[in-house]
Amino acid sequence: MSAELKSEERSINFLEEIIEQDLKEGRYKQIVTRFPPEPNGYLHIGHATSICLNFGLTKKYGGYTNLRFDDTNPVTEETEYVESIKDDVKWLGFEWKNELYASDYFDKLYEFAITLINKGLAYVDDSTAEEIATQKGTPTEPGKRNKYADRSVEENLQLFEEMKAGKYKDGEKVLRAKIDMASPNMIMRDPLLYRIKHAHHHRTGDKWCIYPMYDFAHGQSDSIENITHSICTLEFVPHRELYDWCIEKLEIYPSHQYEFARRNMTYTVMSKRKLLQLVNEKHVIGWDDPRMPTISGMRRRGYTAAALREFCDRVGISKRENIVDVGLLEFFVREDLNKKALRRMVVFDPLKVVITNYLADDEMLTSENNPEDPNGGTREIPFSNELYIERDDFMEHPSKKYFRLAPGQMVRLKSAYIIKCESILKDEAGNIAEIHCTYIPESKSGSDTSGINVKGTLHWVSVKHAISAEIRLYDRLFKVEDPSSEEGDFKDYINPDSLQTIKSVFAEPALKNAHSADAYQFIRKGYFVLDKDSSTSGMIFNRTVGLKDSWAKASK
Ligand code: ATP
Ligand code: MG
Repeated sequence: MSAELKSEERSINFLEEIIEQDLKEGRYKQIVTRFPPEPNGYLHIGHATSICLNFGLTKKYGGYTNLRFDDTNPVTEETEYVESIKDDVKWLGFEWKNELYASDYFDKLYEFAITLINKGLAYVDDSTAEEIATQKGTPTEPGKRNKYADRSVEENLQLFEEMKAGKYKDGEKVLRAKIDMASPNMIMRDPLLYRIKHAHHHRTGDKWCIYPMYDFAHGQSDSIENITHSICTLEFVPHRELYDWCIEKLEIYPSHQYEFARRNMTYTVMSKRKLLQLVNEKHVIGWDDPRMPTISGMRRRGYTAAALREFCDRVGISKRENIVDVGLLEFFVREDLNKKALRRMVVFDPLKVVITNYLADDEMLTSENNPEDPNGGTREIPFSNELYIERDDFMEHPSKKYFRLAPGQMVRLKSAYIIKCESILKDEAGNIAEIHCTYIPESKSGSDTSGINVKGTLHWVSVKHAISAEIRLYDRLFKVEDPSSEEGDFKDYINPDSLQTIKSVFAEPALKNAHSADAYQFIRKGYFVLDKDSSTSGMIFNRTVGLKDSWAKASK
């Protein structure tokens, strides 16, 4: 953790500076932003950054944020994605003012195109995609305009009308803006505004067979909604000139575009195209696989919305490309869960302990649910003369600094008693089958009068009261920090051991009523959450994150 992130206050980011200046100069009465996802996949942590930024700004400075589905490409978009996106934004804790669709503006955008044609600023071009590409020139050589650029307004109006009416096949004609074939900005060299695509659209059905290009839909949609600050990622910097050109020529509301660096994170990929491949080729079990960088995956893994918001806010935004360590996100998850998680005891790899001098009936012990939360309440834990501890909490021949259980050594059982190992029972193969201990009756937690100090505290469960559960432990999905920048296919770098399942662990009975909305800390094991695959016949827990950043150390 850098000192910068530790301090509660963070300095204001460059967009906040711009907005504060705009408000000071009375440029806007209120701030209006939008979050404009293309419904062609599930949202990931990069989108979360954009959501927190857009909604955060209007929350801070007054105004509102629209959720606008950028659904101008009919081929890749699906209603399933629309629903998941709405779900994720809500889960993150934000409310949009209006739910809008770029496709609702198709009529308006068509009119805008007519306006440009009428002004002599757009023309229908019959060239093929290859011809258009060659005529465009190179960054060091100006492009050449073809004969179609000389078409009259009347001819263009008629051809564009015919394009809309379905007279032409895909790719036969396009509508282009007439700007400047010698512009140093390649995007300004008569960019495409409309293309023909005979495809069914998830909202407009078969009404349209021409669709606006991103550059002709986005800025105009912003303008229609009176967006004051249109925030996007750095790759759109060269598009800003065209964004402004369209608004100026159409004489519509002047929205402004601002750019920030994409959120990239280590040990994952963030492009929806790549995430879709992971899903389709079954490298993961779905978009919400707990190893995915998607919001739904993180939610299923047990990351909290508060932790994600805190991460986005504290890491902030930048004008330069960078890659953030996923360990930082885990830090915020851990910090939040420490405050919220209910403490429970679960033994993963059991070793039986018999308490030979515990002759009383089973008893109920009391333990706090969360020592970090004064209002967290308590739970009861049954204690009996047969317990499970972790196999690796016992050593027959311990080293000097081993403070856990060993022959003749004492430890405290969490929220219970101090015990001492008296003897070991082995099976025929020589493996330790069980160990026999005595307990110190005066050492009960909360009323300990034994005067004995021990260094080790172990978690445990009572054998006859234990319930069973399945545990899923997750590791990084990729073996390298930035799989997309490695040689070859990014999928060559998938970590084959990113999921480890333990079919049956032993849990204290308080977990019987585990709820998926609750976070748990399995003492000494990490933070866990109930997985949606759980049924009444079997509980499955996902490890959200370990208690410490053991991974960073191990990899060094
Ligand atoms: P992808 O490359 O993953 O498909 P995209 O940019 O095509 O991403 P959109 O659905 O168009 O995805 O994005 C919606 C909004 O989220 C846009 O404003 C976009 O700039 C922003 N966004 C997408 N990815 C990131 C990211 N990695 N970091 C920050 N913002 C992002
Ligand atoms: Mg996009």
